Amino acid sequence: MDYLPVFLRVSGQPVLVVGGGEVALRKAEWFLKAGARVSVVAPELHPELACYVRTGELAHLAGAFAPAQLAGVIAAVAATSERAVNAQVSAAARERGIAVNVVDDAELSTFIFPAIIDRSPIIVAVSSAGRAPVLARRVREQIESLLPARLGQLARFMGRHRRAVQQALGRLARRAFWERVAAGPVATRVLEGDEAGAEQALRSELRTSQLTSVPGGGGSLGEVYLIGAGPGDPDLLTLRALQLLQQADVILYDRLVSPAVLARARRDAQRIFVGKEAGERGQQGRIHELLVRLTAEGKRVARLKGGDPFIFGRGGEEIEVLNAHGIPFVVVPGITAALGAAAASHLPLTHRDHAHSVTFVTGHVSDGALPDFRYFANPQHTVVFYMGVAQLAGIIGRLRAAGAAAQHPVALIERATLPGQRTLRGTLADIAALAQERQLASPALLVVGSVAALAGADELTALATAGSTGAVA
Ligand code: SAH
Repeated sequence: MDYLPVFLRVSGQPVLVVGGGEVALRKAEWFLKAGARVSVVAPELHPELACYVRTGELAHLAGAFAPAQLAGVIAAVAATSERAVNAQVSAAARERGIAVNVVDDAELSTFIFPAIIDRSPIIVAVSSAGRAPVLARRVREQIESLLPARLGQLARFMGRHRRAVQQALGRLARRAFWERVAAGPVATRVLEGDEAGAEQALRSELRTSQLTSVPGGGGSLGEVYLIGAGPGDPDLLTLRALQLLQQADVILYDRLVSPAVLARARRDAQRIFVGKEAGERGQQGRIHELLVRLTAEGKRVARLKGGDPFIFGRGGEEIEVLNAHGIPFVVVPGITAALGAAAASHLPLTHRDHAHSVTFVTGHVSDGALPDFRYFANPQHTVVFYMGVAQLAGIIGRLRAAGAAAQHPVALIERATLPGQRTLRGTLADIAALAQERQLASPALLVVGSVAALAGADELTALATAGSTGAVA
């Protein structure tokens, strides 16, 4: 270990920054954030530093560095562009036993500034001991994506209840209690921004802890994270989805959840496939039963669905069950297939020149009465059919019957955002034949409307060739 990581209290303490440029500005700002009394030595100041001087937040020592300026300070930073000056500051500080940082020069420094994640009071610091700052920043970014934005709020929330919990519970029970708070419904509420709900959950958790004799054992209720997994590419998960996938004990996932997405979940989480294969009835009932049973065991259950849980995902039915059983849950939106497919095939769903509205429709006829297709026959309106592959001929027939032209543009996007994604572009007249010829399979979306002609079709050349020779071998 080249450096000992410690957190230094500089609040109210004098520190010196030598240099008046942008780098000096950043260092001075860190010191100010931590409450230090900052003096800046420089002949001239960056406008923002000058601004701090005007508001009285910084003192300016105009002119060149002189070792006497170090009197009484606890830390110094040399951030000038002149190596000789920086070396002079470093030598003078070290001689006096003052901690010194020389920007971009680990040799001359006795302390370094790590890359940090500030979720005060939680602070994460990452350092490469000055050897690979870019790498340290990357590590910081990777950690940062896993830390909820409201982590600091959670720390403060827990801090506020420390004393009351101390009085209510014995030492052993307390530890188990805080573990459950940090990783259960209470934390989920705070991280969602619902402090009132969190207070309530905390009180109920506290009552349970007081009632159960076994510390941490039994009684406490699990929770459900209803998570949209997006269209397939794991990089299209939201940060919150990723965070919750990292803490779930059990994952219930559908057929449309890609293996790459599942791979991002906690390694030791139990994974249960609950996908609906064709003709498999009663699966939804089994899902409801699992949600109730697993949460009663105190498990944190991630219910992971392709796309968004509330777009043809039966998320509505599942939260009705959760509500009926008083099971706490959060819903995390996902990028629905239509949005993933539109982005991946460069097909804008609305466009000032082509379409001013868009509808997502199920192509699954048994899912209830279909909407009025007359509205969809207007090419200025974009329609995205989900689950439409098997019903392609029927959908096209209805659109034509509702008045849509044979040349009405359409696109089929198969496996959007997944390896092997394909886009077929055509018209109502030719798309069915094309889909058959190319053996298009589910999952795929049908996009209908003027904008479909804008799709970057990778099968277009093949179509043109087939069209010109007129032959299908
Ligand atoms: N809740 C999901 C939709 C579930 S319905 C969402 O918001 O995306 C299942 C249908 O979604 C499939 O039949 C297909 O039409 C569409 N779909 C899902 N993932 C897809 C993908 N990667 N590419 C194309 N279509 C997809």
